[in-house]
Amino acid sequence: MMEYFEAITRRQAAREPKQDEYKDESGLIMCRKCRQPLQCRIKGRLFPVPCRCEREADEKARAALDEFDRIQREKKLNEGIKNSFYKDLTFDKDDGRHREVSKICCDFVRSFKEAEELSAGILFYGACGLGKTFHAASIGNALLKRNIPVLFSTLRYLIDDRLSAKYNGTEKIDLRKYRCFFIDDIGAEQYTKQDLDAAFQVVDELYNTKKPLLITSNMNMKMLEHPDSLELERIYSRLLERAPKRILVDGDKSRLTEAKNKRLLLDAVLSSET
Ligand SMILES: [Zn+2]
Repeated sequence: MMEYFEAITRRQAAREPKQDEYKDESGLIMCRKCRQPLQCRIKGRLFPVPCRCEREADEKARAALDEFDRIQREKKLNEGIKNSFYKDLTFDKDDGRHREVSKICCDFVRSFKEAEELSAGILFYGACGLGKTFHAASIGNALLKRNIPVLFSTLRYLIDDRLSAKYNGTEKIDLRKYRCFFIDDIGAEQYTKQDLDAAFQVVDELYNTKKPLLITSNMNMKMLEHPDSLELERIYSRLLERAPKRILVDGDKSRLTEAKNKRLLLDAVLSSET
């Protein structure tokens, strides 16, 4: 260590002013631009110090690095938004039509850690156009803002992703990167046998991440719990298990029902936060 200081002070003592520097009357090298010293004397030995220009340049470099980091982080988070339409669905655009639902959504974001531990998300169901997607996506966007990676997707998108990986060798979405999944509009479409196989696989993967799901569906609970086919029943039941809180978004009203088991726990969590 001492050798290191010796080397520094020796170099400083031998140093001559460069073009944009000068020596002041006490012999310290100064910056011509900001007229601040570039050296200081401690116990008769010379050490280098940054002048104002250097400090400002450092700050600028650090700010640029921070900004770069921020952009990279945001880019990474936005990777999970598979349809840019979802990006604009945020709490600040809530028209307050379903105040009770809005409150639950805010509570969910606030107590996300607990919801995550319980693998307990929310199902929003009810007729079209009544804000289910809005509420679910606004939770997702609020989580992103807290640097929690969320995948915004549909079952169709995930099925196609898996089929494309299988048949075209494309890289499939790595579900392990996400801490919450928003699956929009389940039950909206018909599936072929091949689709169903892929759906079951990807839903199984989702289930095994043990992360909360935010699901929206136009179907009623009966149709979701007892769909036409056994395959769909297997798929929906796995999805619903990770979304034990059930919110019926219906007209101007909304109603809450919940799956057994986890509901009391999640409720306790949500109400303890308020
Ligand atoms: Zn300077």
